[in-house]
Amino acid sequence: GREWHLVARPTGWPTDANFALRTAPVSEPGAGEILVRNRYLSVDPYMRGRMNAGRSYIAPFELDEPMLGDALGEVVASRAEGFAVGDLVTHHQGWREFATLPAADAVPVPRDLDVPDTAFLGVLGMTGLTAYVGMKDIARVREGDVVFVSGAAGAVGGPAGQMARLLGASRVIGSAGGPEKTRLLTEEFGFDAAVDYKAAPVGEQLAKAAPEGIDVYFDNVGGDHLEAALDALNVFGRVAVCGLISSYNATEPAPGPRNLGLVLGRRLRVEGYLVTDHQERREEFLRQTAEWLRAGQLRYRETVCEGIERATEAFLAMMRGGNVGKMLVSLEG
Ligand code: NDP
Repeated sequence: GREWHLVARPTGWPTDANFALRTAPVSEPGAGEILVRNRYLSVDPYMRGRMNAGRSYIAPFELDEPMLGDALGEVVASRAEGFAVGDLVTHHQGWREFATLPAADAVPVPRDLDVPDTAFLGVLGMTGLTAYVGMKDIARVREGDVVFVSGAAGAVGGPAGQMARLLGASRVIGSAGGPEKTRLLTEEFGFDAAVDYKAAPVGEQLAKAAPEGIDVYFDNVGGDHLEAALDALNVFGRVAVCGLISSYNATEPAPGPRNLGLVLGRRLRVEGYLVTDHQERREEFLRQTAEWLRAGQLRYRETVCEGIERATEAFLAMMRGGNVGKMLVSLEG
């Protein structure tokens, strides 16, 4: 099967020279293992961090080894109890066509929720759980809050803004790059207002969209967005620091928000979190989110690139904003 290897660590934006698509033999499953034919691969911003060497919250990708990531696939051979040929699973051995792995590392795709399978890599998967935990447990959205979400047309941001509303927010504002994305926010995802950060400074637009300030900022971006949000936050406001994508390909450390001092005067709570620490919320999240989906209260989008040979291209396109909703790579073709 074919698999993507990291062959050189990028500085700044990765290029084709950093990756190679190689062919490796497919190994038969040993005792307790399954062999999965991947149908969809997930490409995600955190993968950029794993391309760097050095200490982080997650180990770097090894050079000349297959990269890792979430995938959805079909069991094609099984030597594990409870897993049969034809079962659909999600697991973490993405970036390749075939994966042999311990069955304990695979999660069966629930069949009773009546949603498309790809949802389990997005709105019902890691990115959806990130939105749910961030809004509910970290930002602690409550009745009447004014909420601002950056990266709002993306896999985490779209559900995050809609969940804020479903959890009681009175006004939800999103930011995204370009008029098509901002239209999607207000016309399809039910945001009250949307800011196109590419058209004018985000701070000016946010001040207009939230004349009485914001109570919650869900940060996917950092940089100018975080500074603008701090200016707009009301006393006792909360910031869920989910991601800082504006700096992932930077070659210099990003400057800190110049107005960080507002954290004191306005008694703000600024809290970073990683979805991996919140897996105990998964059952509740699945039940609640599937219910919202069935009731038509939660909408989501996917952007699908066809073919494993386009996986690195899909990853880079996503980092540049070429996706609407969850970016996936299909191996079905
Ligand atoms: P998205 O689907 O949101 O895709 C990335 C988006 O980032 C692009 O579409 C682009 O949208 C936007 N973007 C890129 N560069 C910039 C920039 N300089 N300024 C503003 N926006 C930019 O990805 P995800 O939903 O998967 O991830 C969103 C964020 O959540 C990331 O920061 C990621 O690291 C974080 N994350 C955190 C997790 C956690 O556990 N804490 C778990 C999962 C994700 P546009 O066209 O609008 O610019």
